[in-house]
Amino acid sequence: MREELRTMYASLGISEAVQSFGEEILKTLKERFEAIDEVTEYNQMKVIKAMQEHRVSDIHFAATSGYGYNDMGRDTLEEVYASVFHAEAALVRPQITCGTHALAIALHGNLRPGDEMISISGKPYDTLEEVIGIRPSMGSLAEYGVTYKQVDLLADGSFDFEGIRAAISDKTKLVEIQRSKGYQTRPTLSVSKIGEAIAFVKSIRPDIICMVDNCYGEFVETIEPTDVGADMAVGSLIKNPGGGLAPIGGYIVGTKACVDQAAYRTTCPGLGQEVGANLGIIQSFYQGFFLAPSVVGNALKGAVFAANIYEKLGFKVIPNGSESRHDIIQAVEFGKPEGVIAFCKGIQSAAPVDSHVTPEPWAMPGYDSDVIMAAGAFVQGSSIELSADGPIKPPYAVYFQGGLTWEHAKLGILMSLQKLVEAGMVRL
Ligand SMILES: *Cc1c(COP(=O)(O)O)cnc(C)c1O
Repeated sequence: MREELRTMYASLGISEAVQSFGEEILKTLKERFEAIDEVTEYNQMKVIKAMQEHRVSDIHFAATSGYGYNDMGRDTLEEVYASVFHAEAALVRPQITCGTHALAIALHGNLRPGDEMISISGKPYDTLEEVIGIRPSMGSLAEYGVTYKQVDLLADGSFDFEGIRAAISDKTKLVEIQRSKGYQTRPTLSVSKIGEAIAFVKSIRPDIICMVDNCYGEFVETIEPTDVGADMAVGSLIKNPGGGLAPIGGYIVGTKACVDQAAYRTTCPGLGQEVGANLGIIQSFYQGFFLAPSVVGNALKGAVFAANIYEKLGFKVIPNGSESRHDIIQAVEFGKPEGVIAFCKGIQSAAPVDSHVTPEPWAMPGYDSDVIMAAGAFVQGSSIELSADGPIKPPYAVYFQGGLTWEHAKLGILMSLQKLVEAGMVRL
């Protein structure tokens, strides 16, 4: 079997040297992988339990059209999400086009002219700059008279509690915390650290809405931000909770008051959650949510494998090879655009879809520098599928994530290494 596998990898273009390097690294990761398996098992049980409690049945998979009044599949799915996140309510919809849209709805729905929002985990994700109006943009919160403040994380990546205390004013209505690092090289925040920050904010003013951008964090730990006091947690269904099957969508879970406000913004005042047909894709939402804990576990194994490979080769990796994980993203700093480009070419050529195309940097809407993206995905832009992207700006870091199966993630990482060797960036 070993020989057959080596021949198979060779036929895909992975050299003997790259294969052996990978196998040596893998031998050191047994315990890490076992710990990931345990979290997966716990979260799998959590999802199954919620589906059983809400008596999920095949009638819930039926397509609805038009207004979508009394869409039982949609309503029950939202109850399942609320149970898994231990939240009062959930909004889970194909009408939410992406993660940015879900975050925008949560913000626009809950903020009013004259209110102030504060990001307490530093600069928010790039696309939110235009939602908030940090970069002027049509229809931003700034245009509606919502002001914005930011409290950066301290140099060690922890919350600046004194800074937060100083920033909060009478006008502060909402505090935003981003769990994942996004396109930055800071550490990702653990759910328990997020809980400490929320408790601190609530100790100053309990009525401040604490909202967490949960993108890439779902099912990485056994608890979620809503377990530690978040009023809202928000994310994308073409990331973790869609399990690779949801073809579109976003979610907001949290208090009934916050989710209602978001729902009235998603559809319109008066209608809220009562409308929104599922158009026949609801089964993929259920089945994807069912698979999500396991898919996230596979993606995490890929991230840990990549961290250990590139750390061993002397590159800065965030998180490092042995740290605990709070999202599925792995950053590797190459210090040169060529490294980012070679890595992405490797991920692309390991894909089941579009492996023959070559990714190139381009000016993506919503980002302030050229970005290169590698994605050979069944769902366009899905980043729970094996994907890599990086802005072409210092420190020339690539952000790698996903892998619906561990085996595919492994191939992708070996292929990225192969391309770096071929580009002369790495010598084994
Ligand atoms: C992906 C992501 C978003 C935005 O999601 P899109 O689906 O790409 O619009 C927001 N915040 C974080 C931290 C993300 O990772």
